[in-house]
Amino acid sequence: MLTLPTYEDVMAAAARLDGHAHRTPVLRSRSADALLGAQLFFKCENLQRMGAFKFRGAFNALSRFTDEQRRAGVVTFSSGNHAQAIALAARLQGIKATILMPHDAPAAKVAATEGYGGIVVVYNRYSEDREQIGRTLADEQGMTLIPPYDHPDVIAGQGTAAKELFDEVGDLDALFVCLGGGGLLSGSALSARALSPKCKVYGVEPEAGNDGQQSFRSGAIVHIDTPRTIADGAQTQHLGQYTFAIIRRDVDDIHTVSDAQLVQAMRFLAERMKLVVEPTGCLGFAAARALEDQLAGLRVGIIISGGNVDVARFGELLKA
Ligand SMILES: *Cc1c(COP(=O)(O)O)cnc(C)c1O
Repeated sequence: MLTLPTYEDVMAAAARLDGHAHRTPVLRSRSADALLGAQLFFKCENLQRMGAFKFRGAFNALSRFTDEQRRAGVVTFSSGNHAQAIALAARLQGIKATILMPHDAPAAKVAATEGYGGIVVVYNRYSEDREQIGRTLADEQGMTLIPPYDHPDVIAGQGTAAKELFDEVGDLDALFVCLGGGGLLSGSALSARALSPKCKVYGVEPEAGNDGQQSFRSGAIVHIDTPRTIADGAQTQHLGQYTFAIIRRDVDDIHTVSDAQLVQAMRFLAERMKLVVEPTGCLGFAAARALEDQLAGLRVGIIISGGNVDVARFGELLKA
């Protein structure tokens, strides 16, 4: 039996993050409201430290290390933002961080991770098992493995973004959350159920990688091959044990959007709201746009999850 994190854990995480994570702004936009005929509240985690909500879960997880764990260090695997989050949170807490990254990770993300003091070890995304390599390092060197999403302290930390949103704007009718492995969605759902119980909570995945939707609908975790999508933060192959249990219990539905819809959302957020949002960070807004008919007159929260996109690539995507 898993002991699932609760909203109490989200509150404890919020206290640990106080003074370390940014309390990111909630932005409004008249043009976005007009476009959807709803009231939209954008929680801007692209403006979080290191550029994504992942700082929250990483910092919370490392805050709970014992002295012995601190001495041996942390190891993790990630295609990007979790790596930077662990590297930064570890540096802030004086802990050594080893990060496994895929051979084809964007150069900017590798450089940023090293810039925050992380030690990067490269593996082949298509032929090697990152979880196995991570576990071996953990066993041999006594390091603690902090995975990107399936960990109670990570989930509780990620839940603090939605907590701040509800604390600031009050009840919402619907909340759209980007979905990869489900750390952000499950944490957000814990906060929504506690703070705005009637709010519909929706996860949003890229169409090419709808394992979460399949899992939600079939009632068992579905594994898929690494999906090809511009939403590189949502290229996960499966939900986790903890995240799936919470999502099944507390989430209302899971939607998908195409890469073309992500680009359209990215363009709107850049042109109208002056926000640089990475493709994965646009999932929630893109889905809200597609479901416009069902949202008329409602108060809708959208978590913009991150803004780490190479500027040249950002330009390329918008040009196409
Ligand atoms: C990691 C990430 C996601 C997905 O988060 P999960 O907790 O894995 O579901 C979404 N957006 C961005 C920007 C991310 O870095």
